[in-house]
Amino acid sequence: MTAPAIWWLRNDFRLTDNSALHAAAATGAPVLAVFVLPGGEADDQAGGAASRWWLHHSLAALSDRLAKWSVPLLLRRGPAADVLADIARDTGTATVFAARRYEPWARRQQRAVRARLAEEAPLQLYGGRLMFEPAALRNRSDQPFQVFTPFWKACLAAGDPGPVRESLPDLRGFSGRPGSERLEDWLLLPRQPDWAGGLREHWQPGETGALERWQEFLAEGLDGYHLNRDRPDLAGTSRLSPHLHFGEIGIRWLWAAVCAAERDGLCSAAAADCFRRELGWREFSAHLLYHWPELTTQPLRREFMEFPWREDADALAAWQRGATGYPLVDAGMRELWHTGWMHNRVRMVAASFLVKHLLLHWQHGEAWFRDTLVDADLANNVAGWQWVAGSGADAAPFFRIFNPVLQGQKFDPDGHYVRRWVPELARLPDRWLQEPWSAPAEVLAAAGVLLGRDYPAPLVEHPAARERALAAFETLRR
Ligand SMILES: Cc1cc2nc3c(=O)[nH]c(=O)nc-3n(C[C@H](O)[C@H](O)[C@H](O)COP(=O)(O)OP(=O)(O)OC[C@H]3O[C@@H](n4cnc5c(N)ncnc54)[C@H](O)[C@@H]3O)c2cc1C
Repeated sequence: MTAPAIWWLRNDFRLTDNSALHAAAATGAPVLAVFVLPGGEADDQAGGAASRWWLHHSLAALSDRLAKWSVPLLLRRGPAADVLADIARDTGTATVFAARRYEPWARRQQRAVRARLAEEAPLQLYGGRLMFEPAALRNRSDQPFQVFTPFWKACLAAGDPGPVRESLPDLRGFSGRPGSERLEDWLLLPRQPDWAGGLREHWQPGETGALERWQEFLAEGLDGYHLNRDRPDLAGTSRLSPHLHFGEIGIRWLWAAVCAAERDGLCSAAAADCFRRELGWREFSAHLLYHWPELTTQPLRREFMEFPWREDADALAAWQRGATGYPLVDAGMRELWHTGWMHNRVRMVAASFLVKHLLLHWQHGEAWFRDTLVDADLANNVAGWQWVAGSGADAAPFFRIFNPVLQGQKFDPDGHYVRRWVPELARLPDRWLQEPWSAPAEVLAAAGVLLGRDYPAPLVEHPAARERALAAFETLRR
């Protein structure tokens, strides 16, 4: 039997524009796909509960696609170095092909795999998870970037993000059957209770789902992206984030598709630029985590080490449940719980509420997002949280504190978003929807709302919370 080329899957769950898979196929050898569920050395990869739900379905979808070419998808658990060394030995594999990853744990993992496989079945790593290699980008002082705008200029100056392979790889199946674990036995899906109904309703994990999502966005969202992207009441953004995280759509492919849409007059230059710039924030977060691996646990701006965070388990639980008494924040937290996703504008407001209004450490929020988001991504999540907390690179200044009422009035002007996720307030008129505690008693009664019974009174009052947050921040300056 001909020895296979191993394609080691690392959240690049797609066949299109996949450099590692194309290289494996180009050897002419049969391809054996291997996914290793980490055992200890890379717990971050397993992700939170929502990510595990996605992972299950994404692996199942990929396995189905590969079956058409008789390419087996082998599932194993354990340290990747040991697992891959065993499979390489058992099958006589000459080379292991994989996508390069950039998270601290993933870099440790690829070093361990490379060392273990050494000369016998060398590991070959390929780009494609990002458009621009984080190590290659440096500012004028030859340092990594900490400010987005010059970072993005350097990316754009670096030129086209790279080749896109439109055609499917020419795959040869592998008839050997090294033992695989069963996906069902990994228990990635929730049971007792099965809380994933909302996820099933909203998402189709896998490459086909990713491409359909892109097509939908191209037809209905891209051209208005620069105008609507801050509006949680409209379907104004792509919702590609989980597909990008799991590599079900290639970032270079997506970039090329946006450029083609602009060229073909399917969207304006303003819309295309705005969308490409958001993809730039994904690159920037990865760049930051690559150069400052401590970002996951420590503030990038050191003075924040001394920040006087509070501990308040009840307030944290109210925030997680979407019961803060601020309708926009609660709508976001409930959207997250139900669908595994939250609109970016609302992520900013809800996160700001946790760290500034409640003065709870951003790591509590980061952990909750990591567990509940289907797009939970180490780099984007910690960079997002540190940006909101003011402790990160190029962050929003701490003293700029979102007023959740004004944010709601501005970005959910007709209240569609709040009414959808906080239905107990649905009958309140727009005037009071974002601040029900200010509504006259007869208005509340007519809408069937008794504060404290049907919907919580605000956990904190905005002006007092703002003063408290500014006073806490002031202690850093002293
Ligand atoms: C506190 C906080 C936590 C966040 N945690 C995550 C996370 O765990 N995973 C995640 O993918 N994004 C995270 N984000 C960034 C952003 O909210 C999401 O990427 C975006 O809402 C995804 O929706 P979309 O695909 O419709 O985005 P679109 O607006 O359609 O943007 C397209 C793509 O660009 C990237 N992108 C857009 N905005 C950002 C951004 N601000 N930072 C980094 N990448 C961006 C994403 O990959 C996104 O899919 C976080 C933001 C905040 C404020």
